[in-house]
Amino acid sequence: MKHIEIKGAKVPALGLGTWQLTGRTCSEAVRQALELGYRHIDTAQMYGNETEVGRALRDSGVPRGEIFLTTKLAPGNLSAALARHTAEESLKRLGVEQVDLLLIHWPSGEAPLGETLEALAKLRERGKTRFIGVSNFNVKLLKEAVETLGADLLCDQVEYHPFLSQRAVMAALKHHGLMLTAYTPLGRGHVQRNPELAEIGRKYGKSAAQVTLRWLIDQENVAAIPKAASRAHAAANIDIFDFTLADEDRAAIDAMRGNLRVVDPGW
Ligand code: NAP
Repeated sequence: MKHIEIKGAKVPALGLGTWQLTGRTCSEAVRQALELGYRHIDTAQMYGNETEVGRALRDSGVPRGEIFLTTKLAPGNLSAALARHTAEESLKRLGVEQVDLLLIHWPSGEAPLGETLEALAKLRERGKTRFIGVSNFNVKLLKEAVETLGADLLCDQVEYHPFLSQRAVMAALKHHGLMLTAYTPLGRGHVQRNPELAEIGRKYGKSAAQVTLRWLIDQENVAAIPKAASRAHAAANIDIFDFTLADEDRAAIDAMRGNLRVVDPGW
């Protein structure tokens, strides 16, 4: 496993996304991922699966300290009072004393950004999370959070795959010294259906999904969190460390960049 070492954190570059995983399917997917060697799990208040994620963490027998666990404050929970209260509830559901990363899931404007960031900083001071960060923040919001409001963030979690350029956000993250976590890294099927990516994969005996994940995590300070309910997918997604993409293939994937957003930014 490759790790991203940044701001004192050591983040496994490949994690498991859990959106749409609920009930037994969720706990089984997380447990099997941990068995396969995943040590980075991404959940959120909005996913309604923190209890199942927590159960899987305990059932796996993997020491808590080995797992990088992220959750996110729902867009309606961004006032200081709700951030504090619901973060504590998340910890209870997850059955942990502390998460590794607590994110603002989406900048909803329901509370002033400074108020939410201060609440996150306090939760961190109180040991409820090791690091704080944001998700779905554009360059302007990142600048406001870091430069104007002085937030000490670890990452911005944004949609990122071969068909969506994130050059501007990546440049801003580099400038501020933060990492990027790529969500929807397989474009929810767009990657798997792309013949050019499949062709590149064939050179290495890998699939379109595998070369895409490798392309993502080879980038400086980029992690990826594909979701996989099926064991075969989860196993394939972590089986990406035994080959190296040639420069020409990396360049070919770079050249696919476009404006395809799977997740509606106006949500
Ligand atoms: P994704 O990871 O791009 O795609 C998931 C889909 O790809 C599932 O249908 C999965 O199938 C399939 N798949 C996985 N590995 C595969 C493989 N090797 N070959 C073929 N198919 C494969 O989409 P996503 O769930 O939207 O994104 C991943 C995670 O990002 C989410 O689960 C969530 O944790 C996070 N996310 C965050 C935000 C945010 O606002 N911060 C928004 C969206 C997503 P099976 O499940 O059937 O195995």
